Amino acid sequence: MPAEIDDLDAPRYDASLAALTPSVLASLGVPGEPDPLGLPPTRRACVLLVDGMGWELLRENRAHAPFLAGLLDSGRPIAAGCPTTTATSLTTVGTGLAPGHHGVVGYQVAIPGTERLLNQLRWGDPEIVPEDWQPHATAYERAERAGVRTAYIAADAYRGSGLSRASARGSRYVGADSITELAVRAGEALAGDDRVLAFVYHSDLDSFGHVCGVDSPYWRLHLGYVDRLAEQIADSLPPDTALYITADHGMVDTAPQTRIDIETEPAFNAGVRLRAGEPRARQVYTREGAASDVADAWRELLGERALVLTRDEALARGLFGEVDDAVRPRIGDVIALARGATALVAPESERTLSTLVGHHGSLTAAELRVPLLRVATAA
Ligand SMILES: [Zn+2]
Repeated sequence: MPAEIDDLDAPRYDASLAALTPSVLASLGVPGEPDPLGLPPTRRACVLLVDGMGWELLRENRAHAPFLAGLLDSGRPIAAGCPTTTATSLTTVGTGLAPGHHGVVGYQVAIPGTERLLNQLRWGDPEIVPEDWQPHATAYERAERAGVRTAYIAADAYRGSGLSRASARGSRYVGADSITELAVRAGEALAGDDRVLAFVYHSDLDSFGHVCGVDSPYWRLHLGYVDRLAEQIADSLPPDTALYITADHGMVDTAPQTRIDIETEPAFNAGVRLRAGEPRARQVYTREGAASDVADAWRELLGERALVLTRDEALARGLFGEVDDAVRPRIGDVIALARGATALVAPESERTLSTLVGHHGSLTAAELRVPLLRVATAA
């Protein structure tokens, strides 16, 4: 692999969503939490996570988000994690652990010892117990144990879901089904004298990006709504409160001519047992002993359009951080991370996913870098 096109570096987990959570807990006085980001002490903290609002996208569209644009100069980009996908990032931010440790290592992965896939976003397998699959204490459990009241404010549809249990158990779940309600519930959660950790999750911007593309008036219009949401929460902060605005990943637009069919082309399937991941971050599970042959074949077929690694190569690069033994077999034997506008689609088995414009999952700057913006009120 020539160095000049090898642009997909491992996330810096010491400046990532995995570092944000312990830093926020430390800022609230929770004992035993490291503070890698050096956040100032505060009585209350609110984390607003906007699904799909990458740092690069926000900077390019600052004219459509005047409130957030005003925070960019004092803010900084941090890394999401690998892969850049919601299930992984929500668990990273919910535990303060890198993916190799918390174990939610993709949109969908193979369940070790089976021939089944687990969609970790929708948690389509009742046999997989979220508390066993992701056994580590969440930020909310650690906060509540230290006497910090928590609130997880998101659409009611996610209450008690597998991903919510894996990533956010121990929080007090507050359902909020509209963008206005999110701001109102955040204000309520932060009111009073308690030390508080409030987490607010908004998903619609990602949906507009997937369906319409990020280079679309619909995405930009919705960014304006997100801007007002952030401003409304900021305006209602009580004294001694910090608001952090971040995201789970960015996004890139693909086009019909940049979508590669990896399903019907036989060359992509020789030696492959199961195909998982998503179009920008494929994880494939190979037949016994076939991993390096499959990786070689995919490299040959994809050229510069994707970075193809065996699991061992991905682990050696630190893509997932340090990897626990229980997590290792969940990671694909071969991983393909898309470059440019490439999407690796499976049009028959993933009909809807294969026609979407916007995608994420890979480690380009547009996908990996997310904002860390801060607004705070005085004590
Ligand atoms: Zn998405």
